[in-house]
Amino acid sequence: MKAMVLTGIRKMERREVPTPEVVRPTDVRVRIRAVGVCGSDVHYYTTGRIGSQVVQYPFTVGHECAGVVDAVGSGVTRVKPGDAVAIDPAMSCGECDQCRGGRANTCRALTFLGCPGQAEGSLSEFIVMPEACCFRIRRTTSFAQGTLSEPLAIAVYAVKRSIPLAGAAVGILGLGPIGLCVQQAVAQAGATRVFGTDRVPERLTLARGLGVAYAGDPGSEDVVGAILAREPGGLDVVFECCGQQEALDQAIDLLKPGGKLMLIGIPEVERVSFVIDKLRRKEICIQNVRRQEGCVQAALDLIESRAVNLDALVTHHFSLDEVQAAFELLAGYRDGVVKAMIELA
Ligand SMILES: [Zn+2]
Ligand SMILES: [Zn+2]
Repeated sequence: MKAMVLTGIRKMERREVPTPEVVRPTDVRVRIRAVGVCGSDVHYYTTGRIGSQVVQYPFTVGHECAGVVDAVGSGVTRVKPGDAVAIDPAMSCGECDQCRGGRANTCRALTFLGCPGQAEGSLSEFIVMPEACCFRIRRTTSFAQGTLSEPLAIAVYAVKRSIPLAGAAVGILGLGPIGLCVQQAVAQAGATRVFGTDRVPERLTLARGLGVAYAGDPGSEDVVGAILAREPGGLDVVFECCGQQEALDQAIDLLKPGGKLMLIGIPEVERVSFVIDKLRRKEICIQNVRRQEGCVQAALDLIESRAVNLDALVTHHFSLDEVQAAFELLAGYRDGVVKAMIELA
């Protein structure tokens, strides 16, 4: 089969590789039809690592995907060949203390699609996944929409781990694909006063179109002042979705005493810091968000019922052969890109 393989920093090649086989009775082989490019994929492309996870070349990234079931193992009951499916890229063991305690996202033996040292990714014609990771999608749902269940599931999970949002004042710092998914998830949860920030003008426009009360650029305006002018008591919860130190500082200034900071963004640096005096005096609660747990079907339900509209997030489309162009576009935040979608015939 064809696969797009990372062969070095900012180097990607189209290669012929062996088509993966169904081995275990619970395995499902999926012919890939769409792959969303995630910020984490771009990190691996530009730097070869995320924290302690280092790429050993050659390696295929990609984990937001959907396709058609092509072959199944003898014990598979949830899906059959020909079914359209969205993929949950996280393969948990089901047996460790974390899995048994309802925390499969921090499974001690977790393998993740397209994560170095764990599993080859989905920028290829076929992948093999456990059936538990395959979620059927309707024919009225596009494969691109199916892939967006992955970032939306993270947003739905983050909302679940936050606070009751009906009537709450909410900040979203970083309006990339995750931030925009969070925006839709908080709106679904009843938040009506939502404030967002980003440095990319097209993303601010998109967020305004999707209903935020305010969207500002921290590079050109005092976003904290502008938001607090509208919400003098401060915000109940801030979702940090860009991994920038500046945004962490803004979050602490924006939150009201007793407020909650949700950390979703992935910083490029090894350490971040907080002004402990502010953090302590306000008694801020910090909740880290590690991907998601059990929210893929809920995300798909939101997509399939048209309760959310993620189509506007997909700003660019590429074929498998054009993957490198997609990654370069994203690495440079060029052309107002939000989500780049790779589509396979
Ligand atoms: Zn992702
Ligand atoms: Zn486990």
